[in-house]
Amino acid sequence: MELLKRLKNYSETQGDVIAFENAFTDETINYSQLWDYSNKIAEQIDKVLDNDKQPVVVYGHKAPEMLATFLACVKTGHPYCPVDISMPKDRLVDIVEASKTKLLIAIEDTEITAENKFDYKDIKSFIANGDAAELPEERFVSEDDVYYIIFTSGSTGKPKGVMITANCLDNYLYWMESIMTRSTDKKQLTYLNQAPFSFDLSVMDTYTSLFTGGTIWSMEKRLQEDMGLMHTKLAESGLNVWVSTPSFMNVCLLNKDFNENTLPEMTTFLFCGEVLTNKTARELQKRFPKAEVINTYGPTESTVAVTEVLITEEMANAERPLSIGYDKPGTKIFIMDDKYTYPGLSEGEKGEIVIAGNTVAAGYLNQPELTNDKFFKLNTPEGDMWAYKTGDEGFKEKELLYYCGRMDFQLKLNGYRIELGDIESNILEMQDVTYCVVLPIEKRGEVKGLAAFVTLDHDVEDEFEYSQMVRKYLAEKLPHYMIPKKCVVLEEMPMTNNGKADRRALKEML
Ligand code: AMP
Repeated sequence: MELLKRLKNYSETQGDVIAFENAFTDETINYSQLWDYSNKIAEQIDKVLDNDKQPVVVYGHKAPEMLATFLACVKTGHPYCPVDISMPKDRLVDIVEASKTKLLIAIEDTEITAENKFDYKDIKSFIANGDAAELPEERFVSEDDVYYIIFTSGSTGKPKGVMITANCLDNYLYWMESIMTRSTDKKQLTYLNQAPFSFDLSVMDTYTSLFTGGTIWSMEKRLQEDMGLMHTKLAESGLNVWVSTPSFMNVCLLNKDFNENTLPEMTTFLFCGEVLTNKTARELQKRFPKAEVINTYGPTESTVAVTEVLITEEMANAERPLSIGYDKPGTKIFIMDDKYTYPGLSEGEKGEIVIAGNTVAAGYLNQPELTNDKFFKLNTPEGDMWAYKTGDEGFKEKELLYYCGRMDFQLKLNGYRIELGDIESNILEMQDVTYCVVLPIEKRGEVKGLAAFVTLDHDVEDEFEYSQMVRKYLAEKLPHYMIPKKCVVLEEMPMTNNGKADRRALKEML
């Protein structure tokens, strides 16, 4: 695999270069340590696991040992599932169970266990005392082997694991490298890592940096929660490449000093994961006139992103919403109706965005039915292409793709992907709840929060108290961003003529 070949090479030719820095704790790991530590952890993985390509769950946040652990897994032929500390205990249990893992590596403390478990102390001791030999390359994850599995919200109330292969990741990274070389002549760039490793946006910064021998400048949760300190640190960061959701950028833009005077080395702003508005792009172009603003689009199911477009001032100043970009090499995007046949709808016609090509995931882990439902072989004159039905609505115009929203009950809140059905299923598990609908609270077309509507098998005296109780219950099951701001208790659920909850009527109650 090209990525691992390059990492070995960097460990020899630029071993002292910092590969990853946690900007809050100032902990770092250089390319030589990254390679060496991962060998030492790999040696211990080999002692407890068979050579069976089963996934390893890695729980933690932004410690440098996370990266060494990811590498150790793939060097021993095992994909890893990153789980961030923002996941509550029950979600971690769901993931441990769904992945059927035989090894949980917990870089941060958790009482959850699997058949085997290494904690942070173990990892530290493997690194300090290990004397590992190089692992043979044939053992590494390669080609169609799964490299990582990222769990995203699933509509049934349980998360689903997207399997990204080594080939998907390499293909994605060649493309990202070409964007970076087009965007700047600078070598050894410093990349912002804002997203947790369990969110595939982090792959954009982390692996593009590792692939090209750069430095990842990572902001952990505690730094992102202290805006004053965050901006002070940013001003000292020497950052070149920004990768975040537009939501996070909007928070940063609240600080007037966030501009090219404080971040003079910025060359590129890369966005993905949700709508980039003209206003945000315009503001950035004003504050960083020498840097490029690039919009990218894609779901976790096709390795982070599959389109990109450099946003010109003309595009940002126009009335029309920004495009989400041109197909990357190796990918063909089609607009289709529910027949899903080649070549789909014509230029300008709205339909479902279907992604076909060399970064489409292998499917959902241990879920063949769901995989068959969403992934398929698309028959084209050039041969079959592996394809994914995104559930996004869009259209194409002069090769550019435009996004028109979701066709189902999935949404983005502050960049986080959420299935409303996931929250509803969890609320329905409460014994007294007889019906539940969760809706987004929107202001000027933007999702600002969530509201749950329930009917119960008893009366409630204090609705506020009940609402707080539901929130507390959910906090044990779901990550914080999936917890509704309020829970409205209804005597009766309004229904449409065809017997479904009347979401429009509910929306009017917000
Ligand atoms: P995730 O799997 O978390 O990356 O979420 C994928 C979903 O985010 C896509 O299916 C879209 O609905 C949305 N998305 C990703 N990129 C963009 C973008 N540039 N503009 C609008 N929506 C986006």
